Amino acid sequence: MDDIERKQEETTAAEENPNRCRENLEKAVAAVKEALPGMTLLEREPMSQHSSFRIGGPVRALAVPSDVTSLTKLCSVLKQNHIAPMMLGNGTNILFPDEGLDQVFLVSTEKLTKMFLLPDGALYAEAGVSLSKLASFAQQNGLAGLEFASGIPGTVGGGTIMNAGAYGGELKDAIESVVCLYVPDQRLYELTREQCAFAYRSSLFKKLGGCLVLSVVFRLEKGDGETIAAKMRELNERRRDKQPLDLPSAGSAFKRPEGYYAAALIDEAGLKGYTVGGAQVSEKHAGFVVNIGGATSHDVYDLMMHVRNTVYREKGVQMEPEIIILPPDYRLEDFGPAVKPNIITMGERAES
Ligand SMILES: Cc1cc2nc3c(=O)[nH]c(=O)nc-3n(C[C@H](O)[C@H](O)[C@H](O)COP(=O)(O)OP(=O)(O)OC[C@H]3O[C@@H](n4cnc5c(N)ncnc54)[C@H](O)[C@@H]3O)c2cc1C
Repeated sequence: MDDIERKQEETTAAEENPNRCRENLEKAVAAVKEALPGMTLLEREPMSQHSSFRIGGPVRALAVPSDVTSLTKLCSVLKQNHIAPMMLGNGTNILFPDEGLDQVFLVSTEKLTKMFLLPDGALYAEAGVSLSKLASFAQQNGLAGLEFASGIPGTVGGGTIMNAGAYGGELKDAIESVVCLYVPDQRLYELTREQCAFAYRSSLFKKLGGCLVLSVVFRLEKGDGETIAAKMRELNERRRDKQPLDLPSAGSAFKRPEGYYAAALIDEAGLKGYTVGGAQVSEKHAGFVVNIGGATSHDVYDLMMHVRNTVYREKGVQMEPEIIILPPDYRLEDFGPAVKPNIITMGERAES
C-alpha cells in the first residue's frame, strides 16, 4: 500500500509540474536509446495508425519491446527517469486526442505473442496475443470456453484489463491467473482470478493503474473441436450481421447501464444516425460510434456527450463510456457524485 500511496503522490506532483514531467520524459527517451539500442522506438508516432477508430495525433514515444525481458528492462529505465509507461494492445478501445500525447510514453505488446499449452492442460498466452488467435488456438486443441472471444479485436492484455466479453461470456470466466509487472515497485505479481477483482468491463488493473499485464493462464473445458468451431462461426456471423464492422470504431461506446441496453436507449432517444463532423451513431447498431470519414477526437467526444445528455434527459439513465477517452482528465460531464476507485491490495508476489 505504501508504494501505491507514493505513486499517487508522484502522480500529483507530475500533474502540478508539467514542465518537470516533460523534462523527465525527454531524459527517459534519451536513456532508452542509450541503454536499449535494439528497442524499436517510434517518436511522435501518429496514434491514428494504432487505433481502430483511425483517430489520434502523435504520441511522444511508442516502444515495441521484442519480449517480456526487454519490456521489464525498458520499464526499469523509465522508472529511473520517473516515467510510468502506458500500455497499448491493439488500440481497439481507446479514443486518442487529435492534439496528441506529448507527455506519454506508450509501450506496445505487439511482439509479446507466445502461446502454448502447459503440462496440466491450461493455456498460457502473452499479453500481445490477439483474442481471435487465442480462441482459434483453444479450438484447435479441443478446449471450449473462449468461443465468445473470437470476434473481439483486442489482445489478451487489453481484454484482461477490460474484462472483455460478448454473447454471455467474459474473459474472467476462463482466466485462472494473471502475471503483471507493478510499475511502482518494478516487481512481478501472479494474481489468481479472485484477486483480479473482475467486474463488468473492469478489473483491479483498470482501477489501480500501474499494472502491466504480461501473461495470462486460461483454464478451459475439454470439448469437441468441430462443435467449438461451429459456435465460433455462428457468433462471428451474428457479429457481422449486427455490427458496423466495415467502419472504424472502438466497439460499444457506452457500457450497458444496469437493467437496460445502451443501444436500445440510444435508438429510442432517436439518435441512430446522429452525426457530428465525421463521427456518427451507427445506423446499423446504435451502441457503436463510427468514423464515417475524417472524424476528429472532438467529433467523437461531442457526439458521445450529446448522446449521454439526450438519453439522460429523455430516459433518466446515466451512461458511462466503455471507450477509454484520453487524456484521462478529458471527461464526459458528470451527472452525479464521482465514484472513487476501490484500491485493493495486490496479490502474491511471483518468482521473478
Ligand atoms: C469492432 C469492435 C468490436 C468490439 N467488440 C467487443 C466485444 O464484443 N466485447 C468487448 O468487451 N469489447 C469489444 N470491443 C472493444 C475492445 O476490442 C476490447 O475492449 C479489447 O479487450 C481491448 O483490447 P486492446 O488490446 O485493443 O486494448 P487497447 O485498446 O489497446 O487498450 C485498452 C486499455 O487496456 C490497457 N492495456 C492494454 N494492454 C495492456 C496490458 N498488457 N497491460 C496493462 N494495460 C493494458 C490500455 O492502456 C488501455 O487502457 C470491440 C472493439 C471493436 C473495434
